[in-house]
Amino acid sequence: MYDVVIIGGGAVGLSLAYLGAKRGYEVAVIESRHLCSGATGRSAGIVTVQLSIPEDVAMAKRTIEVFREVSDLTGVPFYRRTGFLTVLPERLLDESLEPLRANGTTYTVLKAYEIEGHVPFLRVYDHEVGILTLDDMTVDASKMGRAFGAVLSDFGVDVYEWNGSTSISLDGTRIRSVSVNGGTELRGRSYVLAAGPWNKVVLKEIGVRASFLTIYKCQVVRVKGDGVDAYVPLYTMGEHLYMRPDMEGTSVVGNGYAKVVEVPEDAMDGLEKEYVQHIAELLAERVFNPEDFRVNGGWSGPCSITPDGYPVIGRVPGFENAYIVDGLDGYGLMRAAGVAERSSGRRRASSAPTST
Ligand SMILES: Cc1cc2nc3c(=O)[nH]c(=O)nc-3n(C[C@H](O)[C@H](O)[C@H](O)COP(=O)(O)OP(=O)(O)OC[C@H]3O[C@@H](n4cnc5c(N)ncnc54)[C@H](O)[C@@H]3O)c2cc1C
Repeated sequence: MYDVVIIGGGAVGLSLAYLGAKRGYEVAVIESRHLCSGATGRSAGIVTVQLSIPEDVAMAKRTIEVFREVSDLTGVPFYRRTGFLTVLPERLLDESLEPLRANGTTYTVLKAYEIEGHVPFLRVYDHEVGILTLDDMTVDASKMGRAFGAVLSDFGVDVYEWNGSTSISLDGTRIRSVSVNGGTELRGRSYVLAAGPWNKVVLKEIGVRASFLTIYKCQVVRVKGDGVDAYVPLYTMGEHLYMRPDMEGTSVVGNGYAKVVEVPEDAMDGLEKEYVQHIAELLAERVFNPEDFRVNGGWSGPCSITPDGYPVIGRVPGFENAYIVDGLDGYGLMRAAGVAERSSGRRRASSAPTST
């Protein structure tokens, strides 16, 4: 009998398993495919503390600590410490610094002409300034899956991958067991649904209508830029454009695009032509030599969000021993270890699921 059976091996499930095992709990993780193959594996890999509410800044800081810890313990370098730069109109500076100040986060404010030293190709306007933070990171999700797999194994966590869709047995108001490949039934004192955008599907299987969760499609474009490989990942507030260097002279670029879909698979059908065009237009406005940036692929994936935009962390109504962590929006990688820590009961769910 495990203390906790976690359904889902993405950033959230793995952080939960790691923090739980460190506290001495007997933990199992069940993943339908391989670790970090869901939204986490499709993310742009940016983890920054430059977020707009203090609680998110605190969560991102915790995520950075946990990711560093796991990388150090395993020797798997799955992140790069890159720092992060927000380029914004000067009039919004104070408001934007507030969440960082509230968390005692160190930052530097850059004048427009100083930004060039960090992102030489970026067109910066006179009315703009930059906020630079240094501990932010970019993450390689496939290496991250390997690192967490290794550290969890060292901590005695049983990780079950390639399980397809999970079969859950119920016993009145309790989950009795979850079966993994080969029919083995895993039993736990409690179960955590950490299946990200797939939680809605799992909830449906156990008879819970998750109308509080909306799934949407998110996309990122990969561009190849000659000589553009070393710069600080950035966000331009005017266009909601974010950009980070990736491998072999490519960059990953995206913005706040979101299209509501029914099921997560609908969000995995790849890039839309209009989106690529839109990103190309935004880049044309923002970089000195747009012709240097050629589209070189990209991908899409699912995200999930609650009506108030806050993650949902709490007990699944109608179930004594089932909990859910979800609604991480397009920030789930950076919120992951923060929400995992709060899932230990210190924070109540901000949006309650409803049962049928
Ligand atoms: C294009 C894109 C770009 C993004 N960029 C960023 C970014 O730069 N920074 C950031 O912080 N966030 C970003 N996000 C958001 C981030 O990816 C997600 O919020 C985060 O990965 C959610 O993590 P999770 O562990 O909750 O979900 P997931 O990573 O989806 O993990 C859930 C896991 O559960 C598994 N699963 C599903 N059903 C079952 C089942 N029945 N049984 C067992 N396992 C199951 C899935 O295979 C999956 O591996 C982006 C998202 C997308 C799509």
